[in-house]
Amino acid sequence: MKLKDNLLAQIFVAFAIAITLGLIFGPAIEVVEPLGELFLRLIKFVIAPLVLASLVVGIASIGDPKQLGRIGLKTVTYYLVTSAIAVTIGLSFAFLISPGEGLTIGIPEEGSVEVNETEGVIATLLNIIPENPFAALASGSILQIIFFAIFLGLAITLVGKPAEPVYRFFEGFAEIMYKITGIIMWLAPLGIIGLVAPVVGEYGLSVLLPLLKVILTVAIACIVHAVVIYGLAVKTFGKTNPLRFFKGITPAAAVAFSTCSSAGTLPVTMKNTQENLGVSRRISSFVLPLGATLNMDGTAIYQGIAVVFIAQISGLELSIMQLVAVVLTTVLASIGAAGVPGAGVIMLAMVLNAAGMPLEGIALVAGIDRILDMFRTTVNVVGDASAAVVVAGSEGELWTDATVEERDDDFES
Ligand code: ASP
Repeated sequence: MKLKDNLLAQIFVAFAIAITLGLIFGPAIEVVEPLGELFLRLIKFVIAPLVLASLVVGIASIGDPKQLGRIGLKTVTYYLVTSAIAVTIGLSFAFLISPGEGLTIGIPEEGSVEVNETEGVIATLLNIIPENPFAALASGSILQIIFFAIFLGLAITLVGKPAEPVYRFFEGFAEIMYKITGIIMWLAPLGIIGLVAPVVGEYGLSVLLPLLKVILTVAIACIVHAVVIYGLAVKTFGKTNPLRFFKGITPAAAVAFSTCSSAGTLPVTMKNTQENLGVSRRISSFVLPLGATLNMDGTAIYQGIAVVFIAQISGLELSIMQLVAVVLTTVLASIGAAGVPGAGVIMLAMVLNAAGMPLEGIALVAGIDRILDMFRTTVNVVGDASAAVVVAGSEGELWTDATVEERDDDFES
C-alpha cells in the first residue's frame, strides 16, 4: 500500500517538476527528451510479448468458446456505446462553450494539409488475420497478435494434455513480462519529466492562448465523460467505488498523458487494472489490448469538438444530418485510429469529409494537437480500464481486497 502511494506521489511531483522546468527553460528543455524516449521504449518493448503471452493464457483458461463469445460481445458493446456517448458529450460541450466564436484566424490555403487515405472497412477487417504471425509479432501489430493469441489459446484447450507444457511456458512468460513492467515503472517519474517538460517548454503560453478555449473545451468534456460515464459504469456494473477506480488507474493515466499513446501505455494499464482494481487476468488480458486499439472515447470527444470548432471558425452551420454523420463516422474513426500519438488528427479528416466540411481547418487544431492528445489519450486509457472493470464485474471476475487471497490461490492451482 505504501509503495503504491509513493508511486502516485512521485508521479505528481514529476509533473510539477516537468511544468516548472518547461516554464523556466522554454524550448531549451528539450535536452531532457532522451529520458522520455528511454522510458517509452522500455514500456513499448514489453507490449508484443505481454499481449501474446497473457492473452494465450487468458483464452486457454476460459476454454469454452461460448464464454469467449459472450465476453467479446460485452466488451465490444461497451466500447461502442461509450464511444457514441463520448462524441455526443464532445459535441454538446462544443456547442455550449463555442470555442471558435469570435476567432479570426485565417483558414490556411487549400492544399496545405495532406490527408492520408484510409483503408476500406473490408481491407481493415481482413488485415486482422496475419499472413505471418511472427511478422505480426515483429512489427507489433496488436490486432493481428490478438488474433494469433486467441487461436493459440483455443487450440491449446482443444489439444489438452500434450499442449500443457506450451500453456505453462506462456504462463511463466506472461509472469516475467509483468515483472519487467513493474521494474520499468520505477522509471516512470523520470520518464514523465522527459516527456512533459519539452511539451511545456515548446508551447509557451503565447502559443496556447489563442486556442485556449479549444483546449479547455476538450479538457472539460474529457473530465466530465470520465467522471460521469466511467464513474457510473464502474459503480453500477463493477460495484467499484469510483474514487478507488480513479486512484487505481492514475499511474496508467499519467503515463498516457505523458506519452500520448494508449498502445504504449498498455502494459501499465494491464498492471493497474489487475493489481489495483482487482480485474482477473483473463478478462484484463482480453479486454485491454482490444481497447488500446479499438476503444478511443477521448479521441471521439476531441473529434466532435474539432468539427464544431472548425464549423464555427469557417462560419458554417451544422445541420442535424451532418451531426448524425459526425456521430457515426466519429465512432468508426475512433475505432480505426491507432493508439499512437497524433492518430486522432489523421482520422479527423475522415469525419470532416463525411460531414462535407473543409479539411483545411485541420491545420489549425493540428498546431496544438500534442496538448489535446494528452487529454484524449488519458480518457482512452481510463475508458479501457473501466471496460475491464465492468466486464469483469459482470462475469464475477472482479476481486475485491477481501477475495484477493482466494484469487492468488486460484492462480497457483
Ligand atoms: N494518441 C491517441 C492514443 O494513443 C490516439 C489519438 O491521437 O487520438 O490513444
